[in-house]
Amino acid sequence: MTYRSNLEKCLSEGRFTVTAEIGPPKSADPLKIRDKAILLEGYADAFNVTDNQTAVVRMSSLAGSVILLQLELEPIMQMTCRDRNRIGLQSDVLGATALGVRNILCLTGDHQSFGNHPNAKGVFDVDSIQLLQIIKNMRDQGIFQSGDPLLGGRPCVFLGAAANPYADPFEIQVDRLRKKIDAGAEFVQTQSVYNTEKFSVWMDDVCSQGLDKKVHILAGVTPLKSVKMAERMKFHVPGTDVPDTLYERMRTAADPAKEGYRIALQTIQELKTIKGIHGIHITALFWEEIIPSLVTDSGLLLRK
Ligand SMILES: Cc1cc2nc3c(=O)[nH]c(=O)nc-3n(C[C@H](O)[C@H](O)[C@H](O)COP(=O)(O)OP(=O)(O)OC[C@H]3O[C@@H](n4cnc5c(N)ncnc54)[C@H](O)[C@@H]3O)c2cc1C
Repeated sequence: MTYRSNLEKCLSEGRFTVTAEIGPPKSADPLKIRDKAILLEGYADAFNVTDNQTAVVRMSSLAGSVILLQLELEPIMQMTCRDRNRIGLQSDVLGATALGVRNILCLTGDHQSFGNHPNAKGVFDVDSIQLLQIIKNMRDQGIFQSGDPLLGGRPCVFLGAAANPYADPFEIQVDRLRKKIDAGAEFVQTQSVYNTEKFSVWMDDVCSQGLDKKVHILAGVTPLKSVKMAERMKFHVPGTDVPDTLYERMRTAADPAKEGYRIALQTIQELKTIKGIHGIHITALFWEEIIPSLVTDSGLLLRK
């Protein structure tokens, strides 16, 4: 069996897989991304390179992905529909795969009004589900969205999507996941999980519909570094659910960073036991240096 990427290989072989986010810098400095990559090498099976997350301008995910490839690390290039129309998106898929990118995560993207250019024109020519279908057709049928044929090599890529088990209304989130799978999603990375109980209810629904057999689900883990971060996640980040008990643990802790680390470890242990979860996706916002010990202490270093 040949696989398109290491991520696909790990997931297909049934290994509990770890991915980690590497956010590109707000500058043209390649060393910033290289430093993070060197710190995290060996601690994850593939590395997500975000696409102007929170609608704040950063180095492009395509450039960040190529820097990782130069270091022989495997990128998951994230693509949002906010900033490019279908012509730009398809062109970047061809360029990225020509340069060696083998995993793409398709997102609609955070709305531009949340970012540092709130008056920017949001493109949203297509959404994440349509983008998945477009890339799948380029790969499997050899056709562009227009119906024109690709003239030569097709993009060889493992396709992913995001899922938010906490978004309102809760009931439609499994339907949205099914639509993403039907459109071409082969792996899914979820919003950060703090409320494992609610996440388990969502996963029960996912499994009862057999969707866990059709897609590899990696649960999101974002360690809380401070009380301020816990507050932000609880009260200001839409679609994130920090239970009162966890928030109180952070608020009353003598050392909030240590407590946040303990909570992340505990969350990973709980996630490992949930049916249908094939791995975790660590997004350590402004705290990437914690990832090596988090992976080691949660027993995932020797996961192979
Ligand atoms: C693992 C992960 C990585 C992420 N990385 C990034 C990133 O790099 N960059 C970034 O900007 N955001 C990123 N996000 C945030 C993400 O885009 C938002 O959380 C989004 O609300 C949910 O994911 P999605 O993009 O797949 O949206 P979808 O599930 O496709 O849609 C989310 C919402 O957008 C609405 N929507 C869909 N189409 C349109 C449209 N045409 N116009 C307006 N609204 C529409 C839907 O109705 C839905 O409510 C990430 C999220 C996750 C979980």
